[in-house]
Amino acid sequence: MSPAPRPHRAAAILSVGDEFTLGQKLDTNAQWLSRRLTDLGVRVREHVTVGDDEDEHVRTLTRLASSADLLISTGGLGPTLDDLTRSALARATHDDLIEDADALAELRRWYASRRRVMPEVNRVQALRPRRASMLANPAGTAPGLRALVGAADVFCLPGPPREMMPMFESFVVPALRADPDRLVLTRVISAVGLGESAVVERLGELMRRDRNPLVGTTASGGVVACRVRYEGPPGPGAHRDLDDILARVRTALGPAIFSEGDESLASSVIQGAIARRLTITCAESCTGGGLGHALTAVAGSSAAFLGGFITYSNDLKQALLGVPPDILLDHGAVSAPCARAMAEGARIRTGADLAVAITGIAGPGGGSDRKPVGTVFVSVTLSGTHGAACRADTRRFLFAGDRASVRQWAVLTALAMLRRAVENLPDAPLVGEVPDDSPEAGP
Ligand code: ATP
Repeated sequence: MSPAPRPHRAAAILSVGDEFTLGQKLDTNAQWLSRRLTDLGVRVREHVTVGDDEDEHVRTLTRLASSADLLISTGGLGPTLDDLTRSALARATHDDLIEDADALAELRRWYASRRRVMPEVNRVQALRPRRASMLANPAGTAPGLRALVGAADVFCLPGPPREMMPMFESFVVPALRADPDRLVLTRVISAVGLGESAVVERLGELMRRDRNPLVGTTASGGVVACRVRYEGPPGPGAHRDLDDILARVRTALGPAIFSEGDESLASSVIQGAIARRLTITCAESCTGGGLGHALTAVAGSSAAFLGGFITYSNDLKQALLGVPPDILLDHGAVSAPCARAMAEGARIRTGADLAVAITGIAGPGGGSDRKPVGTVFVSVTLSGTHGAACRADTRRFLFAGDRASVRQWAVLTALAMLRRAVENLPDAPLVGEVPDDSPEAGP
């Protein structure tokens, strides 16, 4: 009797294609696969990218298969001469390539269903190493392959993400063999308004590397994600330990937390506004619609977001938002009074409950001693209820980085301020905030 196949304790991901090693395209498959495998409790130990070089491909495949239980490769299954995955797999398994009659028939059917004759070059896509099996690809012409290289289970999937993802779900997920002695639990808590070092300081010894669950942080464009990961024996103790650490992270970060899971900051703003029956508008200058883009990227955002204004020129700030010419003359378009007037103008013109305005200098030119590149003003105004006066919160920021980064930080900060207004959260300084000591700074 042959021994039971070993569990998939460690996985590796291999991405194939010159476009990645030459830096022409971003390898998003590895990111997606890693996230899915982690969710499924399989630890991914390595991501490797190889160009379209068969010898290198065979060497890498063989090396990864000697240390991983599961290897997933993507790309290189097309019909052209630079699609080398089939032959590389055949060499790694010491098999010859044979034509698979069913796969060839399936290819012909695929073309016939689109009223086309199969080009002869596509015939190579019906080849497989003798002991490998074919994986049907309902969304494209490149079938996948599955084979054993040594003791490692190897799945070769096509490169295009819309073909690769369903094939992962159909063929890899059902074949996964979880490790009965090991459980992996992961959670993400996302926070905004605190820099990564402030988050790390608050988490303190929770971040020690010898802990289990282990806490790690990743900062991206002003959002700090805290990953909490338990890896060890299964049992009720595992969940208890994880819940304990999650509770401590929640206490440490408090109201800076905006989501537990995959929810974006824009989505948390929209969901909060919907729950409180608040409507939102925006007026943007230096971000040129980036905030509107982020808000409308959230499905269902129309229940809270009414629309907004992109007023790049001073003329349009006056014409569309009613910013008084005096403000522009005396203080300039990049100033607290202008940001406030833009927000108020947008709020009054749309009838929204909440308005946020952004005006700043994204660079690389246009800065001055008093207002260097990276200076951004964000103002949020909230209509008063029951006859109360409208409230405004206007802040000055100095963001580092290039034009794209200043604009990204401005959008994110506007979202953070909106969230604070929507949730009625306590005041606290935001990342990049600087005192507005300009003469025009007012209440
Ligand atoms: P096809 O039959 O479409 O040629 P294939 O398996 O041969 O499939 P490639 O030719 O290597 O795949 O890549 C096709 C396209 O798939 C690439 O242009 C790229 O857009 C996308 N792709 C390939 N690998 C990746 C990856 N790792 N991440 C993101 N996209 C990828």
